[in-house]
Amino acid sequence: TDKTMEKIVALAKGRGFVYPGSEIYGGLANSWDYGPLGVELKNNIKRAWWKKFVQENPYNVGLDAAILMNPEVWVASGHVTTFNDPLIDCKACKMRHRADKLVESWCEEQKRADVNVEAMTSDDLVAFIRDNGVTCPGCGKSDFTDIRKFNLMFKTHQGVTEDSSTEVYLRPETAQGIFVNFNSIQRTTRKKVPFGVCQVGKSFRNEITPGNFIFRIREFEQMELEFFCKPGTDLEWFQYWRTFCHDWLLNLNIRDENLRLRDHEPEELAFYSKATTDFEFMFPFGWGELWGVADRTDYDLKQHQDHSGKDLTYFDQEQNEHYIPYVIEPSLGADRVTLAFLVEAYDEEVVDAEKNDTRVVLRLHPALSPFKACVLPLSKKLSAKAQELYASLAREYMIDFDDAGSIGKRYRRQDEIGTPLCITYDFESENDGAVTIRDRDTMEQVRIPMEQVSAYIREKIAF
Ligand code: ATP
Repeated sequence: TDKTMEKIVALAKGRGFVYPGSEIYGGLANSWDYGPLGVELKNNIKRAWWKKFVQENPYNVGLDAAILMNPEVWVASGHVTTFNDPLIDCKACKMRHRADKLVESWCEEQKRADVNVEAMTSDDLVAFIRDNGVTCPGCGKSDFTDIRKFNLMFKTHQGVTEDSSTEVYLRPETAQGIFVNFNSIQRTTRKKVPFGVCQVGKSFRNEITPGNFIFRIREFEQMELEFFCKPGTDLEWFQYWRTFCHDWLLNLNIRDENLRLRDHEPEELAFYSKATTDFEFMFPFGWGELWGVADRTDYDLKQHQDHSGKDLTYFDQEQNEHYIPYVIEPSLGADRVTLAFLVEAYDEEVVDAEKNDTRVVLRLHPALSPFKACVLPLSKKLSAKAQELYASLAREYMIDFDDAGSIGKRYRRQDEIGTPLCITYDFESENDGAVTIRDRDTMEQVRIPMEQVSAYIREKIAF
C-alpha cells in the first residue's frame, strides 16, 4: 500500500480522528484537535501504555504533576539556559532557518555522512555554513545573519496584576514533575530502589519548525517513565527498558521493519548521559524519532538537590548507605505514536481485482481501535431489537451502531475506522438468539449466541 501523508490526513479529517485547530477562524498554525474517534484512539494508546508500564509492572507507580511549576525548576533542569534553538536568517530573502536543520539537510543533499550536526555548537554551525558555502533553500544565496538563540519554553504570568505577577513557564517536558516529587513518592509508597514513576501529560514547546501533521506540534502529550536504580546497575536497566519499549510497540502491531533503534555514538551523547537510544519509525516523510530512551545518570536529581538545597539521596537499608539513584528515562510522544499507529495500520486491500474493488482497512490492534464493535441491524425493521444489544454491550465497551445503507457499505465504513468486529442482527436472530460476527481483517463470519458476544469481544481486544 502506498501510504502518503495526504491519505492519512484526509482519512483522519474525514472520519473524525483529527481536525485542524480553530478551523472556523482560519486555524492556528500547526494546532490540531482530536475528534470523536481520535480521542478514543489516543486514550486507548495512553491506556495501553499505562497498563504495561504501571498497572502490570511491579516496579512502577503513577503521578500527575502540575503543568505550571516553580520557575527555579527550569533553572535547575537546564531549560532556561540550554533549551534553545539556533536561528539564522537569510539576508537576501529573509527566510528564517534553524541553523542545525539547515546544515543537516545540506549534508544529506551533499551525501556528507561524516558530519555530526548534533555535536556542533552555534559557533561550529556558523563556521560550517560559511566555510562550505551552505545555501538558503529559499533563494539559493549564501549570506546569513549571525545565530540568535531562541528559548523554546512558553511563558505566561501567574498572579492578578501586571506588577505583582510572576513569570512562569508551561512545562516543556513532564519529567521534571517526577524529579521534584522523588522524595515524597519514595517516602509515601515506601518503594525501594529500583522503582519507577510514570506520568502522562501535556507539554509545550514553541517549536520553530512544527509540521508533518501531529508529528511536531507546539502543544503535545508525553508519556514518560523515570526509573530510579542503583549506580552501577544502570546499564542493565537501560537494556531492560529498551527491550520493554520495543516489545510494547511490536505487541501493538508496529512492524519491526518500520522501526530503527538508533544508539547514540559517544560524541553525540548529552554530557550527562551514559547511553541513549532513539526509537525511529518510518513515517511517510522518512525516519522520525518516536521514543527516546536515555541513561541520564544522577544528573537530574543532583541538579535539584543543588538548586533546592533539599537532600535527595536515597537510603539503601541493606547496604546501609546513602546515594543519589541513577535514572533511566524512556520518553514517548503520545501524538507522534498516534500518528505512527495510524500510518502502520493504514492499508488498501484489493478485494476483487476484476471488479476493481478495493477497501481501506485500518488494521489497528483491537485494544487501540476507537470502537470495539459495531452493531448492525440487517434491516431498519430490526433496529429496536438491535439497539437493545447495543445498549447492553455499550455498558462495557465503546460500541458503534449503524443502520443506514447497505450492509456491505456499513462494513466498509467500519473497516476504514479500524473497528475489529461487526455484529449483524438479522431476521433469524429473534428466533435463534444468535448474531453474525464479521472479522475486520479476515472478513470471515461466525454465528454465535448473543450472550457470548461480550466474552468474544473481550478476548478479541485483550492486550
Ligand atoms: P525532536 O528531536 O524530534 O525535537 P526531542 O529529541 O527534542 O525530539 P525529547 O525531548 O527527547 O524529543 O522528547 C521525547 C519525546 O517527546 C520525543 O521522542 C517525541 O515523541 C515527543 N516530542 C518531543 N517534541 C515534540 C513535539 N514538538 N511534538 C510532538 N511530540 C514531541
